[in-house]
Amino acid sequence: MTQVLLHQWFEKTKRSFPWRNEKSPYRVWVSEVMLQQTRAAVVIPYFERWMLLFPDLQSLARASLEEVIKAWEGLGYYSRARRLHEGAQEIVANCQGIFPQTKEELEKIPGIGPYTVRAILSFAYRQRYAPVDGNVARVLSRYFCIEESLSKSSVKARIQAHADFLLDEVQPWATAEALIELGATVCLPNPLCEVCPMSASCLAFEKGCASKLPIKQKEPPSVKLKRVVALIEAEGFFLVQKQEMGKVMADLYEFPYFEKSTTPLTRILQETWGLESVVISKLPPVKHSFTRFLAQLFPVRVRAEARQEIAGMQWISRALLSKLPFSAGHRRILHLLEQEL
Ligand code: SF4
Repeated sequence: MTQVLLHQWFEKTKRSFPWRNEKSPYRVWVSEVMLQQTRAAVVIPYFERWMLLFPDLQSLARASLEEVIKAWEGLGYYSRARRLHEGAQEIVANCQGIFPQTKEELEKIPGIGPYTVRAILSFAYRQRYAPVDGNVARVLSRYFCIEESLSKSSVKARIQAHADFLLDEVQPWATAEALIELGATVCLPNPLCEVCPMSASCLAFEKGCASKLPIKQKEPPSVKLKRVVALIEAEGFFLVQKQEMGKVMADLYEFPYFEKSTTPLTRILQETWGLESVVISKLPPVKHSFTRFLAQLFPVRVRAEARQEIAGMQWISRALLSKLPFSAGHRRILHLLEQEL
């Protein structure tokens, strides 16, 4: 009965998204990876542009990593883009370019995690699998009134078992997608139980404890950073660095930066690289948050006499700067710089 009500509600109220129009495994994969840590409304234009640039596995596998990162610019968590690229290359090289159709085969593709495996099998191949994201876990922790932290692996396993159990016998994919939609639009952190199609059988609703669930784990406090960002110009070129693998901003470009101190930037540049420079202007500060960091960036334009070689850095012409994928905070600084130039 619950499934019937849930399916009817979903058919009536589901939101329209480009990835819901056509559910090929490739489109499901790309959309699910984009939707991790990003709101659907933000993902829509990225997804549409991505499908124009890389309409299939083959075009994604052929693209350079830099093109892929550029198409992802602004979505954050860039390891997701690298994993998509790597996964596409693997399928093209080792699966004759045909998307795997079983759980075992999909799990072998680098970067396709357990949730995405289930989403592809459910939405694209209509197999009996329940993908459980954070929203679905919240719905089920309430529906079954689980009063333990969702971070425990035993609780995660119970939630997954409940999700599998709830799937409809005939249309399991419809239940799976409806649960995701319910978590995203009705069973919100502040639940809208009065319009929920599952309220008649929801244990937390019955007990009146829906808004207290799921039990939350304390987040570690965020770390505040203050950085001076050096916009160093010489002979019409700007100094930038491509962040290395293993760093938070891997494969993205940034201007050189230093922890903010009382030492003038020109002196820091002289002491660090022997670079002589003069300050041209200070740009407005930019706030930027990533992972658990809250950074305040203080961009300063300086001019150097010549393009001195500096290890790990590149001089990029002004015209080329905007073509490079920048981290979100430094891209905002680049826009400020372009307004001033
Ligand atoms: Fe969530 Fe309330 Fe629906 Fe229960 S009744 S599933 S708590 S929205």
